[in-house]
Amino acid sequence: MREKLLLVDDSKSERTSIKNALKDIFSDFIEAEDGLSAIKAFIEEQPGFVITDIEMPSMSGYRFLETVRQMDEGRDVPVILLSATKDSLKEKLTGFNLGASDFLIKPFNEEELVARTKSLLRIRSLMTELKEKNILLERLAVTDELTGLNNRRHFFESVKEQLALGLRHNFQIAFMLLDIDHFKAVNDTYGHLAGDEVLRVLGKLLLNAKREGELLARFGGEEFVICLFNTDTDSSLKAAERFRSIVEEYDFSSTEFPELNRITVSIGISTCSQQATIASKNSVGIDELLKTADTALYRSKSGGRNKVTLLEHTP
Ligand code: GH3
Ligand code: MG
Ligand code: MG
Ligand code: MG
Repeated sequence: MREKLLLVDDSKSERTSIKNALKDIFSDFIEAEDGLSAIKAFIEEQPGFVITDIEMPSMSGYRFLETVRQMDEGRDVPVILLSATKDSLKEKLTGFNLGASDFLIKPFNEEELVARTKSLLRIRSLMTELKEKNILLERLAVTDELTGLNNRRHFFESVKEQLALGLRHNFQIAFMLLDIDHFKAVNDTYGHLAGDEVLRVLGKLLLNAKREGELLARFGGEEFVICLFNTDTDSSLKAAERFRSIVEEYDFSSTEFPELNRITVSIGISTCSQQATIASKNSVGIDELLKTADTALYRSKSGGRNKVTLLEHTP
């Protein structure tokens, strides 16, 4: 990995001796003579490490450090402060309060500079690893593993968020529950792996078919849920009919599962014109609406499947 060091010191000889000490650790050295040009270099070059003198003309190392720490891209970059003052407790405290990662007094011992630099690089790489793991965990927590769609928990959170945003408007909201017809037979006939493939493909199909602003998630098993905002009864029905026919017309066969063919889904929709009432009840409101959608789904099933049923919900 190419590693860039930004070296800030008004003394050229000082910069040269630091460069010599650290030539095996960094591949790129960017130099600046004062705080002001260091800020410019920091923004333009995005170094991964900074060593800066404190006493410099035009802008001190303190001000430079303070500015770096206020930038998004500068928050986690290791910064070593260098001071020429012998009795420097006050300077050290000021520096650490401003966010310095370490502090060295000039003239510094080369081996110590190398050791401290390596230690800071180690900490930085552990932090990066931790951040990446956190991002992964956050993504896993909201994602359904099989389909890659949002999971049920994330769906509820997003709906609540949207309802809170739209609280002042009183448009209609709709929940659509979509359940694969006779899915057990797909598993029984073609095997569980083929069933998984159907779920994955259906997830993609729905994701492509849904419109901007509509929330889609795998609700569990072979059930999917879609939430529509600011819609009316007629457009909700049309939307559901669109999903139903897209699935009906799709050929699910693939090279891996050539025997797969058509599947159908049954859909239940609940609509509610009092979005604000649902929002004020929060989870309870959403649960009630989903229950109504489930009743509608049951009617689609008992009515022969591959059907859409809509029920208007009154909170
Ligand atoms: P209906 O038309 O009444 O909905 O019939 P169905 O067979 O689809 O409904 P049922 O509830 O009897 O069966 C659902 C099946 O879905 C049973 C279960 O094994 C299967 N299933 C649930 N989750 C998964 C999964 O992640 N992968 C696979 N392959 N099958 C799953
Ligand atoms: Mg100086
Ligand atoms: Mg089911
Ligand atoms: Mg089913």
